[in-house]
Amino acid sequence: MRLSNLYTKTIKNNPSDEQSLNAQLLIRAGFIHKEMAGVYSYLPLGKRVLDNISKIIREEMNNLGCLEVQMSILQPKEIWEITDRWDDKKVDIWFKTKLYNGQELGIGLTHEEPIVDSLKSYIDSYKSLPVYVYQIQNKFRNELRAKSGLLRGREFLMKDLYSFSESQEGHRKFYEKVIKSYQNIYSKLELGDFTYRTYADGGIFSKSFSDEFQTISPIGEDDIYVDEVKKIAINAEIYNDLNLKKLSLDKSSLVLKKGVEVGNTFSLESKYTDALDLYYTDKNGHKKSIIMGCYGIGVSRLMGVIAEVFADSNGLVWPNCIAPFKVYLISVNEDPKSKQKTEVIYKLLTQKNIDVIYDDRDVRAGEKFADADLLGIPYRVVVNQNFEDKQVELKHRKQNKIEFVQFDRLESIIY
Ligand code: ATP
Ligand code: MG
Repeated sequence: MRLSNLYTKTIKNNPSDEQSLNAQLLIRAGFIHKEMAGVYSYLPLGKRVLDNISKIIREEMNNLGCLEVQMSILQPKEIWEITDRWDDKKVDIWFKTKLYNGQELGIGLTHEEPIVDSLKSYIDSYKSLPVYVYQIQNKFRNELRAKSGLLRGREFLMKDLYSFSESQEGHRKFYEKVIKSYQNIYSKLELGDFTYRTYADGGIFSKSFSDEFQTISPIGEDDIYVDEVKKIAINAEIYNDLNLKKLSLDKSSLVLKKGVEVGNTFSLESKYTDALDLYYTDKNGHKKSIIMGCYGIGVSRLMGVIAEVFADSNGLVWPNCIAPFKVYLISVNEDPKSKQKTEVIYKLLTQKNIDVIYDDRDVRAGEKFADADLLGIPYRVVVNQNFEDKQVELKHRKQNKIEFVQFDRLESIIY
């Protein structure tokens, strides 16, 4: 892509109505546009990052044997009344709307009820189980406070997975597989070293714990006690002697930290399946309950967390695997000959399927350097007088390191 084709522009100063670093940087760099508090649009650069994160999650989900769907955002109130989650006194973050005839609808904040209800058309016997379905879709929640940028949106992108198993044993096995695949996802996103499986409240209908995945950051809203050796944590909400004993955790090795919840996995027993009358018949023809699990990942929250934790004083720093482009290409001189040389490099990299932004604007080189840093593109390639020796200047954004390399070696360095 040529920068002259990109309609977004970088902004020098922080927007005055944003307090969080992630929102400030993402807006300044032109990745997102604020529509109102807690509501953001994803611009061309931001959309690429969001898609790259989704792709990593999708691959892991597909490897687990999960099937992707896209459910409706508009939901009938009746199924939520059955599970007693329609009343605003029970769930206080609903956005709701009405048809002309007065019929009330909910705007999806999660999808347990609709997925269970729809499976009634397809599941009857043990032969149709297990079922694992997921989607990557916008969710709507009327959050009280939305001041942390992408970390707490009123509209946000979530991956939600639902599992339906014949037995507790089958459920448990799958549940642990999901935990593994979540850990893979956070590692691929380079958050593995400071994202902890965190035991949390299992909810009213579960005897066991639920699992949260908490990324350590001062911007986090959750208090968690971390065991850095065992690589697990416990949410302060359930921190007591009994639970520590159950989890074989020792008070003296726990450190209190702030975490951002980037994922959550829940065992739901048969609460929703029973309530909505989804059962199966086993081999002997007996009617049995279906054990359900639900598993969320905050996709847009992850984008915010990554922006927040990796940023330095010059701007964003994206991990290679989700950066909107791999290379930011600059010509220091504006004369036709220099431009021609830069075109050569542009073609060379594009032909190798490397995503390049070519900054072809007629502005000072200093401005281009500043923008390359602000945008957080992993590699900056500068074409200057060394071109005659077939060399370009290569800067590694993360390490802030500059080297000169033969340009036919570029593709072996950039990943
Ligand atoms: P929180 O406690 O932060 O409000 P939650 O427990 O209500 O989150 P879940 O229903 O478990 O959230 O949703 C699954 C995932 O979606 C969360 O782990 C989080 O990463 C993400 N998420 C939840 N609410 C938001 C939001 N308002 N904005 C962005 N991401 C969110
Ligand atoms: Mg949660």
